[in-house]
Amino acid sequence: MKFGEVQQSARHYINGRWETGTTTGISTNPSDTREVVSEYARADRNQTELAIRAASEALPHWSHSTPQRRADVLDQIGSEILARKDELGMLLAREEGKTLPEGVGEAARAGQIFKFFAGEALRVQGETMASVRPGIQVDVTREPVGVVGIIAPWNFPLAIPAWKIAPALAYGNTVVFKPAELVATCGWALAEIISRCGLPAGVFNLVMGSGREVGQTLVDHPLVHALSFTGSVATGERILQSAAARRAKVQLEMGGKNPLVVLADADLDRAVDCAVQGSYFSTGQRCTASSRLIVEAPVHDAFVARLRHRIAALKVGHALEQGIEMGPVVDQGQLELNQSYLEIGRNEGAEHVWGGELLERPTPGHYMNPALFLARPEHRIAREEIFGPVACVLQADDFDHALALANDTPFGLCAGICTSSLKHAMHFKRNAEVGMTMVNLPTAGVDFHVPFGGRKGSSYGPREQGRYAAEFYTTVKTGYVLA
Ligand code: NAD
Repeated sequence: MKFGEVQQSARHYINGRWETGTTTGISTNPSDTREVVSEYARADRNQTELAIRAASEALPHWSHSTPQRRADVLDQIGSEILARKDELGMLLAREEGKTLPEGVGEAARAGQIFKFFAGEALRVQGETMASVRPGIQVDVTREPVGVVGIIAPWNFPLAIPAWKIAPALAYGNTVVFKPAELVATCGWALAEIISRCGLPAGVFNLVMGSGREVGQTLVDHPLVHALSFTGSVATGERILQSAAARRAKVQLEMGGKNPLVVLADADLDRAVDCAVQGSYFSTGQRCTASSRLIVEAPVHDAFVARLRHRIAALKVGHALEQGIEMGPVVDQGQLELNQSYLEIGRNEGAEHVWGGELLERPTPGHYMNPALFLARPEHRIAREEIFGPVACVLQADDFDHALALANDTPFGLCAGICTSSLKHAMHFKRNAEVGMTMVNLPTAGVDFHVPFGGRKGSSYGPREQGRYAAEFYTTVKTGYVLA
């Protein structure tokens, strides 16, 4: 069966069996809304509880499995994803609307993440220390946290689940995974591969359905020890309240309003390139998108002119069409939200530079032109996450002003700077109030073997990815032995 081409019927995967749902949902292609990608199963509270119980019952055995066993399973999953990256990328492009090269790239990254954590399963480390008391040995070891509930957003339907599921399994936890409904088929495709790679029944479970019912059941259930969530700030805050009330471990990755600073000494072609990639690729639907372009006065007008020229030439269209640089918006709701922000920008007095119009293409889809505004820091389009192809330029008097503007946000995911000054680059790296900085690079586009996450309103709890993922997916135990 090829993931990318045929219409799928996607079922839940609970306790090692494929199960139909209590209801079904329809996933459609945002590039051609006439096309059904799948009819997927939707769970209710009872079915979600079955998955949680299965994960709980599988925990004692899996948490004591050997690192070699876990490494072998993860390696096999990674190999199959990599071998089938073209099909998976096509499915992703059909369901989420990323261009085909972006979809294939994301699928490959998901495979690489499983491969990375196959290695990490063999490298779980502890510490041995001298005791402050005579004759006693002390060690610190890492153990799995238990049953992990994984709640994922729609915008990276393969990579984000991969960077949560792979470390969870690598460190001996069991999993209940809930994908976003808009991309249920991608979640199902990942589960289909995982289901054939040697895991005992119940170690990994897939349950699809609404956040309110499936997600909230995971959040509230006493058998779920830890929750890894990526999504909007509003949902994250709700999850934090509920999880904290029952003292579950929780990790939240939420929104961003990331700045890209362009100083007067920057290579302007490179800066425009960073802005185009960071603001508009993946249709601006990335938490790491640079939606605030903070430009030093001497190059402001030249930068805006060049950026306008570049985005006016961007090819927008069907995600599977060759040469397309920006696919459609993911759904009608997000398209309307993007359009409403254009209106808000104009009404607040931001200067509309280019774009934003709805587009007609040969197939009916959620198409719009990339949009650019000149804004002031107090404008809502410069403060609120839009999550679409809408960016604004803010003018800065000098470096200090640019840094202050960059930090003037409740978010703190990532921040970029384009400059040829080592002094300014280093100062920016040190003083940007974010989890990730980029120098002469787009804010979006990160490696999979190093920590990912932010500060302030963007993130809560330990970082994801790389070996730092162990902070969330394990708990430490301190042992004392009188020898
Ligand atoms: P969302 O918050 O609407 O949904 C995310 C997930 O939470 C979905 O699976 C949804 O079904 C589930 N959910 C909804 N209500 C729930 C509830 N009450 N309890 C439990 N689960 C619930 O977000 P989205 O629209 O899917 O994704 C877009 C958002 O994700 C943007 O704000 C974006 O910035 C953010 N995002 C952040 C990162 C990051 O790493 N910081 C990465 C990607 C996306």
